[in-house]
Amino acid sequence: MPTHDLVDITIIGGGPTGLFARFYAGMRGASAQIIDALPQLGGQLTALYPEKYIFDVAGYPKVLAKDLVKALVEQSHQFGGKEFLNQEVTGLEERDGHFMLRTSEGNYPTRSIVIAAGIGAFSPRRLPQACAEPWYGRGIHDVVLNPDEFRGHCVVILGGGDSAFDWAHQLAGKATHVTLAHRSDRFRAHDATVAEVHRLAAEGRVEVLTFHELHDILSTGDRLTGVVLRGTKTKATREVPCDAVLPMLGYVSDLGELSTWGLSLEKDEIVVNSMMETGRPGIYAAGDVTTYPGKLKLIAAGFGEAATAVNQAVHWIYPDKKVAPGHSSNMAIFGQKDD
Ligand SMILES: Cc1cc2nc3c(=O)[nH]c(=O)nc-3n(C[C@H](O)[C@H](O)[C@H](O)COP(=O)(O)OP(=O)(O)OC[C@H]3O[C@@H](n4cnc5c(N)ncnc54)[C@H](O)[C@@H]3O)c2cc1C
Repeated sequence: MPTHDLVDITIIGGGPTGLFARFYAGMRGASAQIIDALPQLGGQLTALYPEKYIFDVAGYPKVLAKDLVKALVEQSHQFGGKEFLNQEVTGLEERDGHFMLRTSEGNYPTRSIVIAAGIGAFSPRRLPQACAEPWYGRGIHDVVLNPDEFRGHCVVILGGGDSAFDWAHQLAGKATHVTLAHRSDRFRAHDATVAEVHRLAAEGRVEVLTFHELHDILSTGDRLTGVVLRGTKTKATREVPCDAVLPMLGYVSDLGELSTWGLSLEKDEIVVNSMMETGRPGIYAAGDVTTYPGKLKLIAAGFGEAATAVNQAVHWIYPDKKVAPGHSSNMAIFGQKDD
């Protein structure tokens, strides 16, 4: 297992908070790298809602999640920090005056750590029905990255939350038919999206089946051809032909080994003070993974916390460097000079 070069700051998590943290580290002249469990950067924005518009990021009246990630990656790459993807950070040791992080792929020596692990290493909640398991990736898709993949397909969406309703709404114009089935008539989705899907249902463009759950998968040879849904109250079954099933059942997240590192925790969140300190010197946290009185789990909040965490980390590693970064508009690193 390779041991990588020692860096100043290792950021656990390449979501918006981690990406902005890497930019800030570079701006402060600190070497920094990101490690992420997912195969791509962007955290929840890339994994959960790349095609959705975000309206509350400063400076953007609206921006597609995937475009915000692209801009963050570009900004964060200016100073050349590396990223190591597809590997979850599990181990932490202190050795020879620095930390050593461990993943399944390597050892990462680092002077300080910024944990920007969001909701932890997360994965879509699997359908509990055993009949579904063999069809994942072959007709059952629990992540939709590109809605155009379902153009011309006949789709059944299972779930009653935001993702289920968002995709029912978005795919109505692309798929040949969309059925949304939910095990009750209580939805956890935004009221406006629920109303919009009901409007589409009234026009016959989406079918909404409440009190229904998956009972079986229909197939011909290797091809998924439909589902059998069963009424949760009536127990009656009905066959719904389709060639794509999208279970939108939320995500299972887990701080995993990070919860054994001696940090102050409240449920699955890291308690930080106003300096983003975690209770263990040299380890800071920022973004959705943190909690403190008044905490907002928003991209905008994560950006501010990333700046605070990195500036504190830089001062902790190099006490002669001030916490306050100065103004980027005056920085020589960007070719600017003091005015
Ligand atoms: C559908 C949806 C819509 C949203 N809309 C908005 C919105 O309009 N505006 C807004 O402000 N916010 C919105 N949010 C919330 C926003 O996405 C989060 O606040 C934001 O993603 C938090 O960023 P983060 O970088 O802190 O964490 P995340 O985006 O969760 O990224 C954390 C990263 O850390 C990685 N990680 C975790 N543990 C480990 C480990 N042990 N080792 C390696 N990697 C690890 C994960 O794989 C992940 O990539 C929305 C969320 C959802 C689900």
